[in-house]
Amino acid sequence: MYDVIVIGSGPAGMMASIMASKNNKVLLLEKNDVSGKKLLITGGGRCNLTNLKTNREFIEEVEYNKKYLYSTINNFGPKDIYDFFTSKGVKLKEEKDNNIFPVSNKSSEILMVLLDSMKMVDIKYRENVIDIKALDEIKEVVTQKSIYMAKNIVIATGGSSFKETGSSGDNMKFARLLGQPTVNLFPAETYLELKEDTVNLAGTSFEEVEVSYLKKKKSGNLIFTHKGISGSSVMKISEFVYLNKDKSISIDLLPKLTVNDLINDLNRFDREKEISVFLMNYFSKKFSNYLVSRYDLYGKIKAYNIKNLIYLFENLKSLKFEVASVGPIEKAYVTGGGIDLKYIDSKTMESKINKGIYFVGESLDIHGPIGGYNITLALSTGYSAGISINNKIS
Ligand SMILES: Cc1cc2nc3c(=O)[nH]c(=O)nc-3n(C[C@H](O)[C@H](O)[C@H](O)COP(=O)(O)OP(=O)(O)OC[C@H]3O[C@@H](n4cnc5c(N)ncnc54)[C@H](O)[C@@H]3O)c2cc1C
Repeated sequence: MYDVIVIGSGPAGMMASIMASKNNKVLLLEKNDVSGKKLLITGGGRCNLTNLKTNREFIEEVEYNKKYLYSTINNFGPKDIYDFFTSKGVKLKEEKDNNIFPVSNKSSEILMVLLDSMKMVDIKYRENVIDIKALDEIKEVVTQKSIYMAKNIVIATGGSSFKETGSSGDNMKFARLLGQPTVNLFPAETYLELKEDTVNLAGTSFEEVEVSYLKKKKSGNLIFTHKGISGSSVMKISEFVYLNKDKSISIDLLPKLTVNDLINDLNRFDREKEISVFLMNYFSKKFSNYLVSRYDLYGKIKAYNIKNLIYLFENLKSLKFEVASVGPIEKAYVTGGGIDLKYIDSKTMESKINKGIYFVGESLDIHGPIGGYNITLALSTGYSAGISINNKIS
């Protein structure tokens, strides 16, 4: 018999366990044989832990359920996360867009700190939870090996993306068992496959572009793949393409230059040279040749009138593609949708329907863009649940 059982040892479950174990007997059940399998692969193995935005700026960047986030982010926001890890000896550094990484560039350092902070927590690995019985004050958690009991259960099983890391959508299964309402799942932060054949462009990358879709504009890097495009700008826009009917996107390949800047550059350029050579001022040879063939502008600059070239420049600022498909949820970095927030207390993460049951992290209908938002949301909601259980019991 425990005071609290936490299901899932990702960042949300670990933080909930740390905070709840201050005065309570906590059991953490994890189906893998290690904690934080997904955490280890975040940020390309470097872990974009959080970002140094103010709480308000942070919430502004999250697309849905902004109001809901105020209590939890004010409880434990980006700055608190920064302080939590630095107080435990982790050296952190700020990169582009205020993104925070460990100086060591090792996500394992973040995981080690979380594990070290769980000395009072009883962690059991290879415990796949298959059922939760919550009819009485004392709840039963059934795993493939055993049955455990506690008054408080924290569900921190993550979303439905990268199933090989353990997050295989069990939040939805438990919600069905408990009669807890959910919002449909969708892929967030994923790649786009294009109707146009991009196989010859595969590997071509851009450091900073602006991808537009309907009224949304997202900046970041971009890379052509064998079937389409990926990179942070594409990942940020992908969920909107998934959720809406329109499948046309446009890319500003040169967001820092205007069409007039390009005309001025051209006026300084030798008109005896080929257009592809002029384009190589901005792009690789492969991509310059692609543009020449796409707009049928072979030959020397002097062979074309200014209207043809302005047309090309306008297209560099708004290169159009039709999306064939959006990367599936299994391959998305993050899962949209999940446990419906209307039925979860925003201060404590406790279910308003099932007293003593808490949902945290990506299991909830909460997600943010690329840039440390999702680990922050996991740690923040985990903290809110853990501290509220701790205060309730002690
Ligand atoms: C490739 C990749 C890179 C990313 N990079 C970043 C980044 O740099 N910064 C950022 O902020 N976010 C990043 N994210 C997103 C971030 O990793 C997740 O949002 C975050 O890990 C969610 O934390 P969580 O604790 O809610 O769930 P998870 O980390 O998914 O943990 C859930 C845990 O629950 C366990 N579990 C599931 N079901 C059961 C069950 N039935 N019984 C027992 N245990 C169970 C799982 O095994 C898992 O250990 C990235 C995601 C991916 C896929």
